[in-house]
Amino acid sequence: MIKTKKKKYKLHVKTGDRVIVISGKDKSKIGNIKTVDTKLGRVVVEGVNFITKAMKPNPMRNVRGGLIKYEAPIRSSKVMLCCPKCEKPTRIRHEIIEDGQKTRVCKKCGEQIDI
Ligand SMILES: [Zn+2]
Repeated sequence: MIKTKKKKYKLHVKTGDRVIVISGKDKSKIGNIKTVDTKLGRVVVEGVNFITKAMKPNPMRNVRGGLIKYEAPIRSSKVMLCCPKCEKPTRIRHEIIEDGQKTRVCKKCGEQIDI
């Protein structure tokens, strides 16, 4: 059997970024990215896409049981990065700076987002 290479998504956002949700029930909510899953192309955004799950108590895993609310991952294409400078949802482009490092640049104001 031939093993297929697992595709990794190249995401425009990373942990700690401030993003705005552009579709779905949490549209136009703003939050920080908590985790990024490059294998599934999904992100978890603080305060966005809360789901409630009924959990059975499990002392082994330190779960008290009952209804537990937590943020579920959403597709990364549903979020747009908020530029820290012009404070607007923006598209980014990649640029290579002097020492060969990649940086993301706001397409609207040209500000470097990763410093
Ligand atoms: Zn900007």
